[in-house]
Amino acid sequence: MAFGADRPRDQPRARAEPCQVSGLGRYGPSPHTGRTRAPGPEVPAHLRVSRRPPAGSPAGPPLRSPPRPCPALLPRAPFRRRLVRVIRAVAFDIGETLVRDDRYWAGWADWLGVPRHTMAALVGAVVGQGRDSGDALRLLRPGIDIGAEYRAREAAGRGEHLDESDLHPDVRPALTALREAGFRVVVAGNQTARAGQLLRALDLPADAVATSEEWGVAKPSAGFYARVTELADAAPQEIVYVGDHPVNDVAPAKAYGLRVAHLRRGPWGHLWAGTPETEPADWHLDSLHDLRGLITS
Ligand SMILES: [Mg+2]
Repeated sequence: MAFGADRPRDQPRARAEPCQVSGLGRYGPSPHTGRTRAPGPEVPAHLRVSRRPPAGSPAGPPLRSPPRPCPALLPRAPFRRRLVRVIRAVAFDIGETLVRDDRYWAGWADWLGVPRHTMAALVGAVVGQGRDSGDALRLLRPGIDIGAEYRAREAAGRGEHLDESDLHPDVRPALTALREAGFRVVVAGNQTARAGQLLRALDLPADAVATSEEWGVAKPSAGFYARVTELADAAPQEIVYVGDHPVNDVAPAKAYGLRVAHLRRGPWGHLWAGTPETEPADWHLDSLHDLRGLITS
């Protein structure tokens, strides 16, 4: 007989008869094994679980759970990619970020024999015009050879000098807190090689200190930020560069792929705070104390 030919399609399948022997299962012996499921122990009435409330009881919970909507038919939430941004290192500009420039420009004023205010105001004017700060010296003494004058000052014992009083008060505690939090801390700015020696002599809480004159490349060159990345020993996006100047710090550091904190401190920090020039910065600081909380939040 062919498979399926033993039963006409219009004839219902015979169902097994319930077992007539109480306690031996509903349908009796299996037609395949001939065995009968052993009856389980009788469950005491007080332990039986019923989905129906006892007769006469007030209305209980619904006998069936409310239908759950099909997940495939639910409106889908917009897909959001979670960006994990890891900061491993913090690099600091030097002038007016870590060190006050007062002594530097006062030294030039005294050397050239002009009032310190005249020198400071001229520096502010030329930098505000987007010019090099050295143009203040060229305005005061046209044709000046700045390099030769710098060496003459050094030879006369009136050269560049830095000591603890030149540091902004938050520098040591803020850099120390960053290192304790596990960040690599480096210092790199547009400064002379002599400034680099003086900063290292201060034994700052930093892993490395370097200056543009030591590297032979200065801000805003991309080459400077390439050296910063090497010094920080991290990928550009893992580094925060902290500085006060939009053209030397914010724009070129962002262009190189670093993250940037603009510091409202010193003449440039105040002049360009809240302007479109510093808006691209990732963070805006009034103090270095703010930095650790911002980059770890
Ligand atoms: Mg600066």
